[in-house]
Amino acid sequence: MLGKGLLKGMRITLRSFFCKKVTLQYPDEKLAMPARFRGGELELDHQKCIACGLCAMACPNRVIKLTTGANEQKKRCLTSYVYQSGLCLYCNYCIEACPTKAICWDKNYENARYFRKELDVDCLALSLERTAAGAAEEAAFTGKTATAEVEGAPGGRSAE
Ligand code: SF4
Ligand code: SF4
Repeated sequence: MLGKGLLKGMRITLRSFFCKKVTLQYPDEKLAMPARFRGGELELDHQKCIACGLCAMACPNRVIKLTTGANEQKKRCLTSYVYQSGLCLYCNYCIEACPTKAICWDKNYENARYFRKELDVDCLALSLERTAAGAAEEAAFTGKTATAEVEGAPGGRSAE
């Protein structure tokens, strides 16, 4: 039949036009990585870490460099934790070896750096920063809630 190919093509075009769009407006929109995505950089939670060094020992490429010391309570703790992402094989051995689940992948796939040195990640400093930011946020939220409660309480301070 004449025009059969055209009709077939139009059918495919119309079907694609009305089905769910899968294109993302990158970089404004980012793709959410699935839970099992193995990539990005190692993210450390220093509060969970017991400074056992098993992650560094499990690493076949010696990518994790950590040093330990003792805190005020004479407990072993991390004094530095550097992950050299440029040498990482993404084998996951470090994460599997960690007994306290103190490390995980940050699932960020935008890891390009201009200089090689920038591929070294100071995970301890980043973890401390995240904790401080979280504490500041919590303090601000608690302060706001307390103010709102005082202002809203019967006999409390009015907004005027
Ligand atoms: S994923 Fe593998 S290579 Fe990368 S830091 Fe962990 S153990 Fe080392
Ligand atoms: S294996 Fe886990 S707990 Fe032990 S030093 Fe590494 S991150 Fe910390």
